Order: sequence, then structure tokens, then C-alpha cells
Amino acid sequence: MESVDELLVKAEAAHGHLCAGQVLGVRMALLGLERLGIEDPRGVDRKRLVTYVEIDRCATDAIGLVTGCRLGKRTLKFRDWGKMAATFVDLSSGRGIRIVALEDSRELARLLYPDVEPKSRQQTMAYRELSDTQLFREQWVHVNVDATELPGTKRERVICARCGEGVNFGRFVESEGQRLCLSCADPGLRYWAPEAGQSEERAQNADL
Ligand SMILES: [Zn+2]
Ligand SMILES: [Zn+2]
Repeated sequence: MESVDELLVKAEAAHGHLCAGQVLGVRMALLGLERLGIEDPRGVDRKRLVTYVEIDRCATDAIGLVTGCRLGKRTLKFRDWGKMAATFVDLSSGRGIRIVALEDSRELARLLYPDVEPKSRQQTMAYRELSDTQLFREQWVHVNVDATELPGTKRERVICARCGEGVNFGRFVESEGQRLCLSCADPGLRYWAPEAGQSEERAQNADL
């Protein structure tokens, strides 16, 4: 495995800047891999690992970079909980290690580099040096990664009876004999609303 410094160079290039979140993410991912005994997550071990992230901030990019887990490979799972935490799961055993960044670390950064401004720089420097136990709390967990969540899972592609859009990976519900996509089955889940004049439902290709 590459060193923290080598990974931070790559993380900076991929993320667009070096920040405290990159340092935390790189270190969190390295710690998780070490605990699981996974040495080559982007090579020979690439089918062993799934990572759950609980925040969509800078650290998430670094975690994806180090682990090789990505949304598009179905190996990066996002739980929108606003927590600086991630769980690294070894699919070969179902064992996972959940790692949470400690709130105290900001204060430790201030004590370590009281004269460094701004805070973001103070934290970026300190998070390289503080120990894993100063930065993180760890917990062994069991994670049941459902078959429909696994990379490589293929299911029949279903066309939603209401909007006519295709649905992969079994993500539909049966309602009164119809197969509906999740956003038609429960419109309250939608993050969008049609603009005025646009039809509410059923795409033009949906004569199915
Ligand atoms: Zn950042
Ligand atoms: Zn639909």
C-alpha cells in the first residue's frame, strides 16, 4: 500500500485541493484496510471490499480514491447521515470496521498548531500527525450486504407501468398488479417536481 503522503498527492489531484477532509479520508481508509488485512484494494483484493460512507464531503472523495470503491462499481454506498464516518466491509467474511472521526480532533489541532491560521490549514497539518486513536473511534460490525446491493448483481430490467422509465437491480415495487419504480410508488421520495406545462407522469415512450 502506498504511504499517506503518496496517497495525499493523488487525492489532491483527484479532489482539486488538499484539505483537512482529504487527510482524514486517506487516513480513515488506510486504517480500515489495515484492520481488514486488505493490502491491494485496487488490485487483487478489489472484489473483497465494499465501503459505506455517511457524509458527502471532502473525505468521501479520498476514501473512494484509497479504497477504489466507487458508486459506479456499486462498491461505494452512501448513507446521507451527515457523519464523518465510514464502514469498510470485507465481503469474504461479512466483517466490517466502522470508523468515526472524533469531534475532539479539531481541538487537538488547535492545541498542536495554535499559531497556524486559518483553521483549515491548522487541521490539515495536524491531521497528518495525530495518532489514529486521537483521530478516530473504531468498532467491529457485521454488515449484511444484500444480494441486490452487490457488484455484478443483475436482475431483470423492469419498465415502470406509470412513468415508462426502465429500472435496474430489482428496484421496483408491485402495487395492485403493476410494477412501479420507487419514485412513482412513493412520489414523496422525489427530489424533483415537473415544471408547469410538463406532464406529471408517463414519458412519451411509455405506451407499454
Ligand atoms: Zn476538500
Ligand atoms: Zn415510474
